[in-house]
Amino acid sequence: MTPDNIQSLQHEQRLFNPPAAKRAHIPDMATYEEHYRRADQDPEGYWADRAKELLSWSKPWDKVMDCDFTVPKINWFVNGQLNVSYNCLDRHVENGLGDKTAIIWQGEPEEDVRHISFRELLHDVIRFANILKKLGVGRGDRVALYMPMVPELAVAMLACTRIGATHSIVFAGFSALSLMNRIQDCEAKVLVTADAVLRGGKKIPLKGNVDEALKGCPTVTACVVLKRAGIDINMVEDRDLWWHDVMADPNIATSCPCEPMDSEDLLFILYTSGSTGKPKGVMHTTGGYLTYAAHSTQLVFNLHDDDIHFCTADIGWITGHTYIVYGPLALGVTSVMFEGVPSYPDPSRFWQLVEKFKITSFYTAPTAIRALMRDGSEWTQKNDLSSLRVLGSVGEPINPEAWMWYHKNIGNSKLPVVDTWWQTETGGILISALPFATPLKPGSATRPLPGVHARIVDAEGNPTSANEGGHLIIERPWPGMLRGVFGDPERFKQQYFERFPGRYEAGDGARQDEDGYFWIMGRLDDVINVSGHRLGTAEIESALVSHPAVAEAAVVGMPHDIKGQAIYAYVTLRADADESDELIKALRNHVRKEIGPLASPEVIQFTVGLPKTRSGKIMRRVLRKITSGSTALEDFGDTSTLADPSVIQDLIAGRHT
Ligand code: ATP
Ligand code: MG
Repeated sequence: MTPDNIQSLQHEQRLFNPPAAKRAHIPDMATYEEHYRRADQDPEGYWADRAKELLSWSKPWDKVMDCDFTVPKINWFVNGQLNVSYNCLDRHVENGLGDKTAIIWQGEPEEDVRHISFRELLHDVIRFANILKKLGVGRGDRVALYMPMVPELAVAMLACTRIGATHSIVFAGFSALSLMNRIQDCEAKVLVTADAVLRGGKKIPLKGNVDEALKGCPTVTACVVLKRAGIDINMVEDRDLWWHDVMADPNIATSCPCEPMDSEDLLFILYTSGSTGKPKGVMHTTGGYLTYAAHSTQLVFNLHDDDIHFCTADIGWITGHTYIVYGPLALGVTSVMFEGVPSYPDPSRFWQLVEKFKITSFYTAPTAIRALMRDGSEWTQKNDLSSLRVLGSVGEPINPEAWMWYHKNIGNSKLPVVDTWWQTETGGILISALPFATPLKPGSATRPLPGVHARIVDAEGNPTSANEGGHLIIERPWPGMLRGVFGDPERFKQQYFERFPGRYEAGDGARQDEDGYFWIMGRLDDVINVSGHRLGTAEIESALVSHPAVAEAAVVGMPHDIKGQAIYAYVTLRADADESDELIKALRNHVRKEIGPLASPEVIQFTVGLPKTRSGKIMRRVLRKITSGSTALEDFGDTSTLADPSVIQDLIAGRHT
């Protein structure tokens, strides 16, 4: 054990065998091992087969891959050509699936439902692609999208891909300033937006932010505005156009050829969540990304033609890009898009949708699961969930108790829960169970997908032994990986390839157990050093969450005279639990008993909220600042992606000194 390694204290031993499936792409571990071996021994052959099976190419590639992490240089399907819109729409219509539902859209109001067929979606995409052209957008140009979770967002994305424009989606919860920065960064020509967002029964204006942001964005010559909420907005002459007006224009051509794109042409730019610092503008290209999106969607959710897939993420995040739009649509699978939130009008909203649309695969985040857990399991019992086949989790380590809650209450103690580890940078899921093959351990992302070479290494880059925590790295390129950080090649190199030359560094701490299963232990930036023991945050937080009074926990280090650092825990209680000094003692004892005295928190502060990114991840760097006594927002670094800055004041007010 080198001193840099992260020590594991967890003793999770539960094991759940996967259910048998009538139709599984990967029906058992032997098949998984076979795929894995093939991809390992003949990566070019494996990926060539996948790219051919899953996608239609208008020109074959000359070479499957041309990559070198030491440069770094990453090219997949070199000189191959394809079009993303063609792959997600036209070819399905050509294959007789025109009437099949591509997107089931559930608006925030219960009665706002649309079933949009592949043919209808294609029709709208063609129109909007022609409108973009008319507005001067061509191949290689950038288009910014700042929109609610409405089908028009998918239309705009696919329209960009059709004509070879690059989209940069800015989550609609971001401020005018964040929007301006992102538009300036990519020098977008056109912005597509809406009047307002419907959220939790309220109308949250968007267009005001747009007007503010565009003052600093001279590159934007046109702004298309969707009327979603019907609020009064200001339309700027010669710049702003209503979506419904332009779409109804009789002069718009009814056909639009798909631009043949080079496999390595830029498909989109998307910013990371900003959990550990300033968000990175991640670049994804066409052929590799779409291959990997289709590949991972198919295998991880075991999707077939008749599945109804529901990913609850916002399309403003990579999870929505890959698992609402590109993955399912490339496969020709029906994807559910939901405008609302899990708790409105009540905490059974997701389950109502499952019943209403007979959803078969459901993919959400630990933050949502913990919130639903806090509200109590009675909300999960009102609806028929029998259509479900696969449950998924993404975004943060899922605490074993949250996993158990999900498995029991939503999965009826039967369904596989796949914990999927990946990043904006990876384009798609890299480590995950396969639902009908992999024996499951609550809290573990289990094994890498075929074609993914994940390892844990120590500070020197040497492999760690079983259960020793270290740096999670990926040894070989995969098609869905990022191609760069927009406008910042130095950051690209330094962030991912410098520390371990020739390998991709994820920035997460993890261990592999004796069965080769991966357990994510938290961000390396968040490791706490108690008396020379380096502890990841996930295990300590999971120990707290395993107490029946606790819904959510976040731990950070605080300076300590003897130990160097001690553990400061922020804890959110379940609805039926009360704060008390006894509970603090009980929680300390609980952690001591669960994982050992070393991890027992020095201080426990109860809180109703935690600082989270807008994608729902706990921002421990903000908690560290609060713990160390900062009070001024300027001290907190880049907080542009913080969901609710008001929690900071509450946390400061409740701080224990
Ligand atoms: P930034 O890179 O700006 O700090 P971020 O890393 O939060 O932001 P994302 O790309 O949205 O931005 O998140 C990826 C990260 O989310 C992973 O590196 C990991 O820390 C965490 N994560 C995602 N899925 C899982 C999972 N299943 N288990 C554990 N951690 C996960
Ligand atoms: Mg990251």
